[in-house]
Amino acid sequence: MPTEASAIRELDEETVARIAAGEVIERPASVCKELVENSLDAEADRIDVAVANGGIDAITVRDNGIGMSETDLRLAVKEHTTSKLETAADLTTIQTLGFRGEALHTIGAVSRMTITSRPATGDAAGTRLRYVGGDIEAVDPAGRPPGTTVEVTDLFFNTPARREYLGEPSTEFRHISRVVGRYALANPDIAVTLEHDDSTVFSTTGQGDRRSAIMHVYGRDVAESMHPVDHTPEGPIDRIHGFISDPETTRASRQYLGVYVNGRYVEPDVVRSAIVEGYGGQLAADRYPIATLFLELPSDAVDANVHPRKLAVRFSNADAVETAVESAVRETLVDAGDLRSSAPRGVSSPEETSVDLEHTGPSETPSTDSPSSTSDPPSATTKPTSAPTSSRLPDTPPAQKFSDTSQQTLDGEDTHSLELDGLPALRVLGQLADTYVVAASDTGLVLIDQHAADERIHYERLLAAFEGETEIQTLAEPVTLELTPAEAEAFDAMADALARLGFHTERSETEVLVRTVPALFGDTLAPEHLYDVLDAVLTADTDGSDRIEAIAADAIADLACAPAITGNTALTDGSIQQLLLDLDACENPYTCPHGRPTVIELETDEIAARFERDYPGHDRRE
Ligand code: ADP
Ligand code: MG
Repeated sequence: MPTEASAIRELDEETVARIAAGEVIERPASVCKELVENSLDAEADRIDVAVANGGIDAITVRDNGIGMSETDLRLAVKEHTTSKLETAADLTTIQTLGFRGEALHTIGAVSRMTITSRPATGDAAGTRLRYVGGDIEAVDPAGRPPGTTVEVTDLFFNTPARREYLGEPSTEFRHISRVVGRYALANPDIAVTLEHDDSTVFSTTGQGDRRSAIMHVYGRDVAESMHPVDHTPEGPIDRIHGFISDPETTRASRQYLGVYVNGRYVEPDVVRSAIVEGYGGQLAADRYPIATLFLELPSDAVDANVHPRKLAVRFSNADAVETAVESAVRETLVDAGDLRSSAPRGVSSPEETSVDLEHTGPSETPSTDSPSSTSDPPSATTKPTSAPTSSRLPDTPPAQKFSDTSQQTLDGEDTHSLELDGLPALRVLGQLADTYVVAASDTGLVLIDQHAADERIHYERLLAAFEGETEIQTLAEPVTLELTPAEAEAFDAMADALARLGFHTERSETEVLVRTVPALFGDTLAPEHLYDVLDAVLTADTDGSDRIEAIAADAIADLACAPAITGNTALTDGSIQQLLLDLDACENPYTCPHGRPTVIELETDEIAARFERDYPGHDRRE
């Protein structure tokens, strides 16, 4: 045994507890998760969660479960104490959500915690225990009905580094409402209430109805769009049940894909992607359905305990699980008439378009250059309901545009050159594939992507509108949108920015009444676009102070790029010249809001090189 002093020391208990706390308790939402799980394990049928300032200032979870005696209470806050496990052998059969016996201890190590509890059985009185930074400060008798209330204040007060990593209160609350919402959805027979800063965000009835729970957590519109799923497939899954949204009711992130395996909320990639696959190409790009899906499997077909935060799950036959989920989703949608068993419906997605083109031989399809082609009935190989996809400006008669400009340019005499500021002077030569403006500059051949140009023009107009006076259009009938708790929270943070954009709204609890929309786009901008703006805020993970502004700008880019909107501008603005003038007026005419180029130039030198005009001996014979 070395006797000299070593640099390696054993950490004291308090430090160990604080380090451990950092791993289990990441943010206020983790506290809520642990406390709600404890209430569920305590067989409560009513759980009230109230948080202040995104949970950063205070979290209170109150239940009417089995409660604790004074002895239980003193033990409960100690490390590795649990009533749920007696021996290691119990680990394989455990049914409760908790069993590690560390949650109360670790939460208590990094906050000021007060637990008040009274056992539901026997005639023991209530007890209040005050626990601060890992030490029991006081234990007193306290009157209360059976059950337990845990209050956590000043989270991370003694771990400043961790406190600094906390997001804005609205971000932290978003996480909380997701976590609490999940348990509310999984336990429709338990009345779960969530309050934030004294206002009720949602409150389920606890009457056992899953659709009603969905309505309270996600809002009426979502609940109405949901189809019930109930399948007893072959293979490892005994039963798949729950609800999935119709293909039109989507969100921009996977966060609304709620998967529960044997009652426990998990995030297995195989199941999530199987759900999406089940929609068979019906979802718009980058959109996800909303689902609350319960998978029941024999306990030997699943290992739920692979992840420290228990969000992962390992299936012994993942392929079979994937197949079963995908077909349960598909069959539900087919039965509901939302999915044709083979051909997709609606506007085709880009991948589908390319398949179409392969099938469409030149002999059977009229040339798209011909003005009459737009009025021709679709040929047998064209999808009946799909909009023309070769151009994103479907309503513009391109051939006419072409002749307008070609008249001027091909006449030769009065060749029309547009003097531009941001862009080089351009002489329009015509149009290619209904999509690109072809022009000559002093230095080469210029191609302008009409759609990308349109997006840029829109984007900058919206930005200008955002900065200055926004013209608004009052809706004949105000439109009510249902918000999820998370959306409602994001909404509060954005309300001012939205008003500046032209969305004048009023919020009450989980609904928002939209009275006006930005006038810029006439009828093409639906009030429902607000959902997309909110989704942008919800899925962004930036917590900086410029968050709202930055996200608003992104959301604007998305709005500007909605095909219906850009199609509309092209129509009103009329000509290629106008498009170029508008593009030229942009601060940044060279890229679309998503960063794709709007303009490319093939320089004369490059053209010469391509024609190999520089081969030896040629230069003299030019
Ligand atoms: P675990 O849940 O893993 O057992 P915790 O630290 O979360 O560990 O809780 C320790 C113990 O405290 C639990 O096993 C349970 O006996 C008791 N307990 C915690 N919360 C409650 C509650 N809301 N109602 C009744 N008992 C509780
Ligand atoms: Mg626990």
